[in-house]
Amino acid sequence: MSSFCTLIHLAVEMDYKLRQNELRKRLASSRLDGLLVSHLANIRYLCGFTGSAGLLLVEESGSTFFTDVRYDTQGREEVKGAKVVIARKALLNALGERIGARRKKSKGKGWTIGIEAEHLTVAERKRLADLLPAGVQLRNAPALVEKARMVKDEEELGLIRKAVKLGATLFDRALEVLRLGVKECELAAEMEYAARRGGAEEMSFPTIIASGARSTLPHGRASEQAIAPGGFVVCDFGVILGGYCSDQTRTVWVGTAPPEARRAYESVREAQEAAIAAVRPGVSAGEVDAAARKVLRKAGLGRYFTHSTGHGVGLEIHEAPRVAAGQREVLKPGMVITIEPGVYFPGKWGVRIEDMVAVSKDGCEVLTPTGKDFLAV
Ligand code: ZN
Ligand code: ZN
Repeated sequence: MSSFCTLIHLAVEMDYKLRQNELRKRLASSRLDGLLVSHLANIRYLCGFTGSAGLLLVEESGSTFFTDVRYDTQGREEVKGAKVVIARKALLNALGERIGARRKKSKGKGWTIGIEAEHLTVAERKRLADLLPAGVQLRNAPALVEKARMVKDEEELGLIRKAVKLGATLFDRALEVLRLGVKECELAAEMEYAARRGGAEEMSFPTIIASGARSTLPHGRASEQAIAPGGFVVCDFGVILGGYCSDQTRTVWVGTAPPEARRAYESVREAQEAAIAAVRPGVSAGEVDAAARKVLRKAGLGRYFTHSTGHGVGLEIHEAPRVAAGQREVLKPGMVITIEPGVYFPGKWGVRIEDMVAVSKDGCEVLTPTGKDFLAV
């Protein structure tokens, strides 16, 4: 992408000031004077910047956003609720200098700045520590922004619905192309082309098309293997639209399906629907996972369900909460998660069905519009 292009945004105004103020409240209760936000998805969430180089310092008195000259125009256009500093040197150096200048004014009062330990490298932390004046401490902060991002507001839900809707059209395209002899990568290419034609900024992740024995790989990226008769094809795909990700999986049989394949498919579908039925406010993510697992265990397929039931989705394809065994995070209205149980028989084939759902006041809204009936091509 050219550094100078101006991004065309969907006409949605996010309340960045509100988000930063919510964060300030949490900073105060974590006994931090500021938070250095270095994770780009968190920066975008807090101030709207969509570029690839930035740091955001959120303090009680205000926020400062640092970027480099490539993002001079874009930074000033996009960033809301923060003073924009265009650094002529490395961003960490500009940040260190600024904190140093502020420190002088504060006349010796101790400062503790939280860092995002999951995202700042060990080398960056050391460099920053070396740049800071005496009396300024760095401390690993809890994942405050990720926690806030779990619950989506109405504007975010609107964007997610659009992304999911566009994402779902890729499966319609897949069914037009999916034939014997077509290569997995050709199928993925047609889907990704349709995505870009439909306005997608990019794919949420490299499209997974896993046919034949490769369908036993939960993350089998599209290869040069040709679609052969007598197996499942797992298609797992998603788009990014308006910054938000979609994520969906459908699995189709090639040729005439034996009864065991149909049975496995129907069990996965039943497990997926049981998990969706379990989604409501007040239920833990672990309980949703257990609902899917219970169905597959009853069908004698429990040991073939080798991964977790789902994950949060938003600005990132995988974000909190994790929908996995024992996860105690309690679901709240506005959380958006995937429900994607699957079974995989090594050396044979695998099946997975994945929808995105938004937790509502009394249950959930299934966002993915695609049907789930057994399909054979
Ligand atoms: Zn997926
Ligand atoms: Zn997923």
